[in-house]
Amino acid sequence: MEYIYLDNNATTKIDERVFAAMRPYLTNHFAHPSSPHLLGTKVREKIEQARDSVAVLLGTSHPDEIVFTSGGTESINTAIKGVLAASPTRNHIVTTKVEHISVLNVCLYEANRRRQVTYVPVDREGNLDLEELKRSLTDYTAVVSVMWANNETGVVFPIEPIGEIVKERGIIFHVDAIQAVGRIPINLRNLCCIDLLSVSAHKFHGPKGVGALFVRRGTKLHSLIAGGPQEGMRRAGTENVASIIGMGKAAELASIYLEEKNTRVRQLRDKLEAGIIAEIHGTRVNGNREKRIPNTTNITFSGCGAGKLLKGMETHGIYVTSGAACTGGLSPSHVLVAMGLTPPEALSSIRFGLSRYNTEAEIDYVIGVLAMIAKNFKTGVGLSAAASLK
Ligand code: PLP
Repeated sequence: MEYIYLDNNATTKIDERVFAAMRPYLTNHFAHPSSPHLLGTKVREKIEQARDSVAVLLGTSHPDEIVFTSGGTESINTAIKGVLAASPTRNHIVTTKVEHISVLNVCLYEANRRRQVTYVPVDREGNLDLEELKRSLTDYTAVVSVMWANNETGVVFPIEPIGEIVKERGIIFHVDAIQAVGRIPINLRNLCCIDLLSVSAHKFHGPKGVGALFVRRGTKLHSLIAGGPQEGMRRAGTENVASIIGMGKAAELASIYLEEKNTRVRQLRDKLEAGIIAEIHGTRVNGNREKRIPNTTNITFSGCGAGKLLKGMETHGIYVTSGAACTGGLSPSHVLVAMGLTPPEALSSIRFGLSRYNTEAEIDYVIGVLAMIAKNFKTGVGLSAAASLK
């Protein structure tokens, strides 16, 4: 084992087949997809094939509902800002306290421009308070933005009941599905309540810097970027061809591996969790253990600072983080604090995100290393003492 990577909620390893699919479009097939000549038309066809694959993964029959973007953050910005710009009589956003920073900071941006924002709370297990969500909706609410799966705990929100509440009031519903896509089945044909849905390729073994926004037909949305007529006038700019093709290939593979995620990867996650809890005194899983994506667990190690635990693991070639990569993990996680953990508890918590590349041998090794580090931590022995395990 060269190293063990358990930080798959931050990003995932690009699949070799995805890279192979991209390569020709970075070299020989470089033509502009809008050029009407044969070379351009061939590139255009590949982009449309990628759109079809993403549509299949999301379960929509209308590929034209897929708009390629530069990633999850741009999709989210387009969704929230685009709806507000298209609904001048409505100035209220409803979201949750546990959203990713890319949603929270769009809300902050809008709040600084005199929009109202309501942040719906969660309970100790990270479940959303649906009654509070219902009460927060007003005649001025333009958009409700809720994540499907939490990036730190993996907790899954009940998207259909939430959507029903939102649509009863005729409000646009945006779902940040960035941690859910490729990990749980998504069927937008059945979930008519979802108007907009954000996706990011690098969370399912695709390239970084490319994503998609699902825009249900008929949804009123202003484009974030002015320019050419690309993506049906919804996202201007020459397409990131190779990455879009890579995203299409990753989507195709994600559909194939969905079953494995829910069996083998789930078993590995459960084994890791059970092993840590059995071996290390004072550990606790954060979040609803039933309603979670299959690859994630978030664990508090009482009395052990996450920073030192992470350093200790790194010494043994194990790469994990304490929370969202984009926030740097230096302050207590806003997600865990919203769930009622104290700041010291939040600062003693680690997020493990598995992928289909992890093996049982890796999980056994991680449990062993962690048990030794935690023991040494409590007895005051240096972290490197666990080196004997390697
Ligand atoms: N939303 C969630 C839940 C995420 O986990 C992430 C990335 O970590 C994002 C949004 C941002 O996506 P991207 O990295 O593609 O901009």
